[in-house]
Amino acid sequence: MKLQLSHNEITEIVGGTAIQFSPGIVDIVIYDTRKIGTDRSSVFFALKGLQKDGHIYCQDAYDKGCRCFVISEDVSLPKDCHVIKVENTLKAFQQLAKVHRSKFTMPVLAVTGSFGKTTVKEWLYFLLKDEYTICRSPKSYNSQIGVAHALLNIEEHHDLVIIEAAISHPEEMDQLEEMIAPTLGVFTKIGNKYAENFASKEAHLTEYLKLFKHANFTVALREYAAAFRRKKINTLLTEPEEWESFEIANKQFTENRALCLKMAEFFGITEEVMEEKMKHLPVLSGRQEVFEGINNNLIINDAYNIDIDALEQALEYQFASKEKEKKYVVLDLNYVKEQQKEAVLKLVDRYQPDGVFVIENDKIPDDLKTISNASILFKGSFRSNLSELVKQFKNRKHETWVSFDLKAIQHNLKYLQSLMNPGTHTLVMVKASSYGTGDVKLPHFLQENGVDYLGVAYTDEGATLREQGINLPILVMNSEIEAFKDMIRLCLEPSIYSFEQLHVFIQLCMEADLTDYPIHLKFETGMHRLGFAKSDIPAIVNEFKTTKAVAVKSVFSHLADADNEDQTFTLQQIDLFKAIISDFKDNYDDSFWAHILNSEGILRHGKIASFDMVRLGIGIFGYASKHDDLLPCIEWKTTISQLKKLNPGDTIGYGRAYTAKEPMTIATLRVGYADGFRRALSNGVGKVYINNQACPVVGNVCMDMIMVDVTHVDCKQGDSVEIIGKQQTMQDFAAILNTIPYEVMTSINKRVARVYVRS
Ligand SMILES: *Cc1c(COP(=O)(O)O)cnc(C)c1O
Repeated sequence: MKLQLSHNEITEIVGGTAIQFSPGIVDIVIYDTRKIGTDRSSVFFALKGLQKDGHIYCQDAYDKGCRCFVISEDVSLPKDCHVIKVENTLKAFQQLAKVHRSKFTMPVLAVTGSFGKTTVKEWLYFLLKDEYTICRSPKSYNSQIGVAHALLNIEEHHDLVIIEAAISHPEEMDQLEEMIAPTLGVFTKIGNKYAENFASKEAHLTEYLKLFKHANFTVALREYAAAFRRKKINTLLTEPEEWESFEIANKQFTENRALCLKMAEFFGITEEVMEEKMKHLPVLSGRQEVFEGINNNLIINDAYNIDIDALEQALEYQFASKEKEKKYVVLDLNYVKEQQKEAVLKLVDRYQPDGVFVIENDKIPDDLKTISNASILFKGSFRSNLSELVKQFKNRKHETWVSFDLKAIQHNLKYLQSLMNPGTHTLVMVKASSYGTGDVKLPHFLQENGVDYLGVAYTDEGATLREQGINLPILVMNSEIEAFKDMIRLCLEPSIYSFEQLHVFIQLCMEADLTDYPIHLKFETGMHRLGFAKSDIPAIVNEFKTTKAVAVKSVFSHLADADNEDQTFTLQQIDLFKAIISDFKDNYDDSFWAHILNSEGILRHGKIASFDMVRLGIGIFGYASKHDDLLPCIEWKTTISQLKKLNPGDTIGYGRAYTAKEPMTIATLRVGYADGFRRALSNGVGKVYINNQACPVVGNVCMDMIMVDVTHVDCKQGDSVEIIGKQQTMQDFAAILNTIPYEVMTSINKRVARVYVRS
């Protein structure tokens, strides 16, 4: 804020008496001396809070440079202070806010109700911020003090103000209404249990509606129609509609959403823009997660948005907390515009943290890991990887997590590419949430690492990638006819393996007036799963004679036996594929790409059969059968949640499947078959490693836990446990289960935290 008021003007506005004079100009209003800005340009209001009386902080404010004070009790202050005595400092503070607000004519939108105020305020901000320069209440500043504080932030350049208002006692709203003088309003909801200080729900609602008595226009849910009508408030009513495509849809969510949409509509935001924005509504509950970190640090994870307002709020929160004296700030500026970077750094600098770290290439600086006993604020945009990195700072006493080493993946990608002919394009298959590594991280990582194409199994998977901002071309392997329209809308490229698909897809592209929409023809060379036969070529080519709607981007096939020692079958497949390509070239043209190799294929035939593109999968994770030059990327870990001593004859777990023969110690671990630690690993079949020693599973694997024998292992509660890693490799683990790494990777359940690291 920049008030530009002289000490005398302030005296006049608050209606007080100057008991000590000193000239000066004030820009900032302070009532908490921990706030940044407690300096010569501030005026300090000694407010009487519930716990503390602000008068005791006058000296602190003075020491920080403040020279203008509004008090109601006698405080002795040095001669160079301007001291204004008033009856009631809160009233004086509010009076200043009211006068400040009255200088402006932009619309002022007030949000009130028992629930959802902050969410609605933040969502409205999010929906309107591209069209308006908005001044909004910080955090949930909605009290008598908070509202005044928020109003004092209004500046000339704002063209919309959004203020949140709360009441807990009768008669409180009049004061807020006078200060805010809202021209617009949103009423969220009143609970079934009216607040204890009100005589009835009706009385509570009546108090709320006082806020809108001079508003030109309000939005409310239909159920409050009668109350608004009685008070003669001009209201647009709305009703929540079911919104299936959103996971966290619940009543409150849909109601808040309906209110915001109605209001945004009033502001002329088009339906298209709203729809797009609604997909990215900030989830407030997940925001600013504070937790105990490693090295006794306090971690503030606020990685959903790095706009200046949000950053300031987070910094304010961090620096207001006295819990840790040392304060560090970690910024991920990867998705921040150049002009904004400077503003971000400048703002952080104002708070003078003990250190600032800027994350580059998803790498955590080593110095950061050595910090202890400090509060660390992590701030990045929702697109950055920061919230994943933060997990490494979590004190995970009781967690199970699987980590993916991005550096290893990068190495594997480079290595596999080195086996291909120069100029070969790289497609990476990211089906099944990138082989179980998670929905978003890897596709972004691949996009950044110059991969040319991504491949998925189903249209839905492609849609998820598009929603997450992936703009690489995407090939969909199982392109169902029902999903063709969605595919076109999302710019996904179908794999076509039947005449029916080909007809329908061409038809749709023609109807949509498209030309050269890329399609990929899949041929059968020995897998006997999906695909055209070589003999279909003339008929296929015939389809293209009369239309320009589609273009064959590629012709491909898939190897059935590429990891076999004996490569006879694979070589036959490659030969047949070559014949198909040559036939196709003769009949069509030679503008299309050809591809057949998967990871195993590249490891063996990269030089003779990489054609124009290869399709990588398991190899980039380091788990192909020939893996000498590949690096494994996965570690699956948990910790010991409890140790138990057993006597001979004691039995363990469900079905009492194991009986102790002699005194033994067992450890209970928080991983079970619901996490992907299969029940087949029960009772001696599976094992884990603790402090470098193998510990067999004893008893049956439970849904969420297992017990392992640690009788001869030196260990304690909280110790780290390796399920998959350096000692029990992915291949070992898969072999015990009679399966392959693909199945192990894709069966680690979603509830196991995914962490991405760079070794
Ligand atoms: C999954 C898949 C790949 C990748 O196979 P990897 O063995 O993991 O390298 C390649 N092509 C198709 C059609 C696939 O479905």
